[in-house]
Amino acid sequence: MKKRSKASSKRRTSLTAHVSPGTRVALYARSALLPSEFKEEAGLLLPFTTYFQDPFVGKNDPETNLNEETKVPWEPGFADGPTSSRFAIVDYNADTGALEPPAVWNESSQAFLGVKGQKIDKDALDTFQFHQVSVWALLQCALAFYEDPSALGRPIPWAFEGNRLIVVPHAGFGENAFYDRDSKSLQFYYFDSEGETVYTCLSSDIVHHEFGHAVLDGVRPLFNESSDPQTGAFHEFMGDLSAILLTLKNRTLRQQLAKTAGGVFTKATTLFQVAEQFGQAVDGHPYLRSAFNDKKMGDVSNEVHDLSEVMTGAMFDVLTGLGELYDDDAEEGSGTGAAAAGDGPRGGKKADKTVRKKSPVQVFYAAADRMQRMAIQPLDLLPPVEVTFHDYALAVCRSQRLADPLDPRDYYGMLIKVFLKRKIFTAADVAELKKPTYLNDRLDLAVGPHMDSLSRSRAAAYRFLDDNREYLLIPASRDFFVADLYEARKRGRQNLIMPRQIVLQYAWREEVELSGAQFGKYDGKTTSMLCGGTLVFDDNGTVLSWMMKPGSEPYGRPVGRGKRTERWATAVQEGTARRAAFLQSLADQIAAGEVGVALETAKGFMAASVPLVIADEDGDGDRIRFRLAPHLHLSKDHQRTRPQTGERKWEISF
Ligand SMILES: [Zn+2]
Repeated sequence: MKKRSKASSKRRTSLTAHVSPGTRVALYARSALLPSEFKEEAGLLLPFTTYFQDPFVGKNDPETNLNEETKVPWEPGFADGPTSSRFAIVDYNADTGALEPPAVWNESSQAFLGVKGQKIDKDALDTFQFHQVSVWALLQCALAFYEDPSALGRPIPWAFEGNRLIVVPHAGFGENAFYDRDSKSLQFYYFDSEGETVYTCLSSDIVHHEFGHAVLDGVRPLFNESSDPQTGAFHEFMGDLSAILLTLKNRTLRQQLAKTAGGVFTKATTLFQVAEQFGQAVDGHPYLRSAFNDKKMGDVSNEVHDLSEVMTGAMFDVLTGLGELYDDDAEEGSGTGAAAAGDGPRGGKKADKTVRKKSPVQVFYAAADRMQRMAIQPLDLLPPVEVTFHDYALAVCRSQRLADPLDPRDYYGMLIKVFLKRKIFTAADVAELKKPTYLNDRLDLAVGPHMDSLSRSRAAAYRFLDDNREYLLIPASRDFFVADLYEARKRGRQNLIMPRQIVLQYAWREEVELSGAQFGKYDGKTTSMLCGGTLVFDDNGTVLSWMMKPGSEPYGRPVGRGKRTERWATAVQEGTARRAAFLQSLADQIAAGEVGVALETAKGFMAASVPLVIADEDGDGDRIRFRLAPHLHLSKDHQRTRPQTGERKWEISF
């Protein structure tokens, strides 16, 4: 192993690819089958320089803060900008009107070059072209992380028309950064702090957080129409989770973390220290710090960032639990029992006497690797609309069951314990989840699915759903639509290929009249509440998962006897409660002055003043659609709860 790492560090300094451009394209076409060492050798994985966390982390020792091995998968179409198939960097500053020259792709050196033809490496940190290439490289890697079979196992779509996410590294002056669907962009601002300029595009945590919004918006675009604070909070959670997981996935950083831990992986303490260090070093970017908390549902306000910390904390408990479990392997060489999450460090006296099986680096690797599957793969099971923490927790548990039905280490039990501790699950949920049951049940359907046609055609998927309205809780007269249809090829432990999943999402809008003074200027208007479900099939048509957000309307025709009648009654009850909660949250948001129209700047980018909830006219002026504004918290604003006084209400650019 040592030999190999020496060789690879030599490769870093001089590109030793001896493949012709034609051969490279031929290899690229088969790159999924090639090992990464070979891809590096053949120039199919190119190294770029980025900051690990933020230029302000380890400011005194900038060398250790630079990652010169951010490996980006090569594509035939790399171009100036950088521009690649899914991203385009556009360095336009809306405040100054300046358009910075782009980094230039140089085919012969297979690298991006600066304006004077210089290399873009650690000697070019102060150039805007370094910023452009660095933010692009981080995003390429983040996209690869999500598309990996250990995550979603499929290409990630954007939530807008077009295939390139525009990235603006120096969008203007301000403590801000955001993802914006309307302008199809991620925008990064810069600001002054103690005499130095802080560029948010250089902070990998911020870049990854914003990218988390873009990914979630891509895979569940209807979430942004939810008025449930938990859906907005889930978006924030995804941002923070992306920042944490991408940090831990970074091989070089993991090695550094393990070194910081002094060669002894002291279970939870190490992660805790790491979290603290990062929190202190980048005041105001408290991704990891905020992850280490004990917050439970009910402890926090409905402000989305506050609320998100409950779920971020829960998943950090899971990560810590995995770390403890694997560290026990290392010390005792056995895998007994489940990890008790969040119980803090235990003993450690025996560490000196026993032979280690896993090094701290391996423990980090194993925990981060499993976490990617445990936390990201369940996203495919989520309902298409209005996700809650409870939904996600259920999806995480179900996904664990599907991936690991026998689960000798009882990860399932560990997950349930964490969600119960955070009050995301109730005791009743736990009783239900722990009932002895079969892995799969036959879903009661009038017409079974023909997977060959269903998986290949939205029209066929629609027919299947329409034939089964009564069984799938879709009101008979309501027009519904196929929100998405795709297949995913995921991998489980030991990189084993899991059965192909076919994911079908359907949704419809239930009309809701806004009537009463609590709706302010929207009194008398009509809006809609989204309802729908997600079905996940395997190749044989077995339903692996069905998650549903019902409406308040009954089926509208006679329903078959027995279970189906019961199912409809429960659904209508749940839908009626959803409708009441929907109206209540809307009234609350209107009362808090959070609802308004987005004002766009003359330059076409999103305005600096954007309400939390944007009201769009839908057709004529009597119909309104409400949607969440995309956003980010930066700096100390995060520590405050949402202002009740009206202060800053319109100032925060979300
Ligand atoms: Zn955010």
